[in-house]
Amino acid sequence: MCSVGSELVAGEIIDTNAAWMARRVMESGCRVVAELLVGDDHDAIVDALRWLADRADVLIVSGGLGPTSDDLTRYAIADFAGVGLERRKELVAHLEDVYRRLDRPMPSGALRQADVPIGARIHEPLGSAAGFVLDAPSAERAERAGRRVTVHALPGVPWEYKGTAERDVLPDLVERAGGQARVTRTLHVAGAGESWIGEALTEITDRLEAASAKPSDPEHGIELGFLAKAGEVQVRVTATGPTPLDARKRATAVVEEAAGSLGDAVTSVDERRLEDEIAHLLRARGWTIATAESCTAGRVSAALSSAPGAADYLRGGVVVYAAETAVTELGLDLGPLGGRGLVAEEEVAVALARGARERFGVDLAVATVGVAPGDVAPGGPPEGTAIWAIAGPGDEIHADETYINGDRDLVQTRAAAFALESLRRRLLSSGP
Ligand code: ATP
Ligand code: MG
Repeated sequence: MCSVGSELVAGEIIDTNAAWMARRVMESGCRVVAELLVGDDHDAIVDALRWLADRADVLIVSGGLGPTSDDLTRYAIADFAGVGLERRKELVAHLEDVYRRLDRPMPSGALRQADVPIGARIHEPLGSAAGFVLDAPSAERAERAGRRVTVHALPGVPWEYKGTAERDVLPDLVERAGGQARVTRTLHVAGAGESWIGEALTEITDRLEAASAKPSDPEHGIELGFLAKAGEVQVRVTATGPTPLDARKRATAVVEEAAGSLGDAVTSVDERRLEDEIAHLLRARGWTIATAESCTAGRVSAALSSAPGAADYLRGGVVVYAAETAVTELGLDLGPLGGRGLVAEEEVAVALARGARERFGVDLAVATVGVAPGDVAPGGPPEGTAIWAIAGPGDEIHADETYINGDRDLVQTRAAAFALESLRRRLLSSGP
């Protein structure tokens, strides 16, 4: 893989394309030899392609396909392959169409995006820039002499990159790999530590370990790993198989067994996130929700809004950073606090949750208070305190608290994750 862009090399953008692709390539059964980052420099890109072509059969190049003068990938790939460029009619028509829909005149430079190396096959564009694939002679290394290398160029914009790869690159990789597919399934586990999870899964891990030493064992080649993330632990089950489907089946059997052992702590499987699970539960119960956030400053409502159709259940929220805001926006009486502001106390979180429930007329409201690093008040609770409350359904109130060790962003993010996990459990236990 080769990712092109000076912002990438400078660390201003993180190469999430390559990280995503690496996982997909592994699943296809192919092996990633190397990932290079190169700036917007024609000769550096050509050199990188040569170096990679000496070591791999397929090169996947990300970015640098746009219309500006620093978008050099098409020229570098043409030079690497020893061919010229040709302007493709279908891409000119596509660009005219894009600008017509934007209702703007096409800048003359935009037409560069219709130029591709001679002999390339075009990946139908999802945005304005089209990717392409080209067969080129392999590079100079003796043991690869006479071989050919397939070069895929994909637009850098992540959704275009992934969409094009899924449609036009990955199926070919699975075929090339000759069927030893490798699939990872992920169990998302919240509200439980790694050691508790490890213990709950001892039986499975012991069995898989024994199988790994015994090629005739039907569970040979299945691996289980743990990955601790903010607010959750991921249990990852990886299996190999003659096809991705077989590999998936083998992984799934273990995933289901592990989910059985972990019970309620499993929030979701694979890409299904905590917020999707909550969306699903809210929808199933036909309930509405609102937020009043101090500590998390909108992170809970942002998470609640992230599933499609969130307006069906999320009514709104208030960021309560000043005590007056609780008075003016939620109609609360903060008198008893005697000017101490929004202290991180359970009583305050509960009042905010009740206030939001009333103010928005919803079934459930979530509130957070806490002490982010740097905000500590003399005599108050320590840095890292996070308290959340959930009001509803009905008169029910639930509040809990924890301490989070970390910088400001981590405290805020994890506090939101705790509140959301609590919400998920409330929804589960108060369900029909
Ligand atoms: P476009 O014509 O759409 O700009 P492009 O192929 O020229 O396509 P780039 O200009 O390299 O793409 O990148 C466009 C944007 O996509 C960047 O500003 C960046 O936000 C994002 N991007 C580019 N490369 C990557 C990458 N490797 N990982 C994650 N995001 C990326
Ligand atoms: Mg660009």
